[in-house]
Amino acid sequence: MKDTAKHQGLRNQLAAVLEKKGITDKNVLQAIKKVPRHLFLNSSFEDYAYQDKAFPIGAGQTISQPYTVAFQSQLLEVEKGHQVLEIGTGSGYQTAVLCAMGAKVFSIERQNELFKSTSLLLPKLGIRPKLLMFGDGYKGLPNDAPFDSIIVTAGAPMIPNPLLAQLKIGGRLVIPVGEDPQIMTLLIRKNETQFEKHEFGEFRFVPLLENKN
Ligand code: SAH
Repeated sequence: MKDTAKHQGLRNQLAAVLEKKGITDKNVLQAIKKVPRHLFLNSSFEDYAYQDKAFPIGAGQTISQPYTVAFQSQLLEVEKGHQVLEIGTGSGYQTAVLCAMGAKVFSIERQNELFKSTSLLLPKLGIRPKLLMFGDGYKGLPNDAPFDSIIVTAGAPMIPNPLLAQLKIGGRLVIPVGEDPQIMTLLIRKNETQFEKHEFGEFRFVPLLENKN
């Protein structure tokens, strides 16, 4: 588990690439420079960890492309101390980026193998989300709601109502919606019953899986 000056250099380059691609939130770019993505990947991918690409992480899942992580993180408009719910912990990389941005992160994963390995990895790297949970993200986390923002990191066939219900007024849900590809969608809660919707083009995610625990 080594993080060297070479890795730091590659991270700085990756942040510059993402900035060129349109990421402007300094807090996001700082987090990309800080989080050692190579330690979230199988060591056979280590040399490629700072390319702007997705990679397999086991259990048929993928670590999202850095641009996608940065794009979703930017849409969340994270401020220090925000309560953020993530659906699809996966490798824990997105979780780590949100923690580096100063969020209190709650994250749910439905594949037990990934839940276990990521629960061991994050503390080893000194990364401390508020809660990692094994369970079904469609239901959200009613006991810890409401959240300042919610990020879904798998492709959702539809927008789960429990997630909308768990947003604060003014809160933001960032979710890729559709089969393949998905449309990146932002919903902002205006009041008890109304949500403003914005769409941001096509992305490709592994599917958000229903209730098979
Ligand atoms: N944020 C992750 C991306 C992982 S890919 C990262 O940075 O690595 C999406 C993840 O969503 C997978 O790990 C998959 O197992 C998980 N997932 C799929 N359906 C889910 C559900 N209903 N609830 C919680 N997690 C789910």
